Amino acid sequence: MKGQEGVQRLRIATDQAVMASRAKSEFLANMSHELRTPLNSIIGFSEMIAHERLGEVGNEKYVEYAKDIHGSGSHLLQIINDILDLSKVEAGKLELREEHVDVGHMMDACLSIVRERAQEKHISVETRIDSGLPPLLVDELRVRQALINLVGNAIKFTPDGGSVIVEAAQSESQQPYLRVIDNGIGIAPEDIEKAMEPFGQADGALNRRYEGSGLGLPLTKALIELHDGSFEIDSDEGCGTTVTLTFPRERRQSDTPQSAQQAATLVAAE
Ligand code: ADP
Repeated sequence: MKGQEGVQRLRIATDQAVMASRAKSEFLANMSHELRTPLNSIIGFSEMIAHERLGEVGNEKYVEYAKDIHGSGSHLLQIINDILDLSKVEAGKLELREEHVDVGHMMDACLSIVRERAQEKHISVETRIDSGLPPLLVDELRVRQALINLVGNAIKFTPDGGSVIVEAAQSESQQPYLRVIDNGIGIAPEDIEKAMEPFGQADGALNRRYEGSGLGLPLTKALIELHDGSFEIDSDEGCGTTVTLTFPRERRQSDTPQSAQQAATLVAAE
């Protein structure tokens, strides 16, 4: 009897914890939404002022300030969007819009966004795509988001003149994977767990040299797990970092069950 009571109490406690976690995620999702609306005005109007769209501002300093407001506002919006996405995943509310995606095209689109930053730092970015890799059944927007986070980090945490490799291939068991390899500063083994936590940064000291919110890695992991895939990070201080996102074999077009293909076509047609 005692044992049964204990199990009952444990069940209630677990239910309460799940509800509390869901309430927190829903609160964050609502807050993020409320914050985005005024921020969009700040970003939009500061951009208009910075570009003097309605006439000259008259003082160069004001133009500089408007540019700063625009830059800071955009940065804040990025953080809020990441919080919103992460809380949506945690609340089980982020739905994937799956369709068959050509990995080469997707990689090119991601790299075009980060290439300028790489060039500024004289970092070479090499892509290696297995020509036999079939299209994958994924949510392109979400996988792009994951890849941009990883390549962005690789460029950010690699000193000038370094190199980054972005690879798309299949394992021996034909599981497709995306891999980002850099030869940058790396992460000490004892700091990897911290880096994977929301807002966690390996060099979290006040004098940190790199900008960022600490949401990129946990969000990337959550997005890949939503695809039933896995996230693996291999890094050491001074030895660079390798992150691998592995997808289930069934996400290859040739292995996608008919029912999933039909569902994807429906989503794509919406
Ligand atoms: P952010 O980059 O915004 O700080 P992330 O969640 O993407 O947040 O990364 C968390 C931390 O992990 C980073 O602050 C950094 O300390 C470490 N990190 C991530 N990627 C790399 C990398 N490629 N090389 C070295 N350190 C990295």
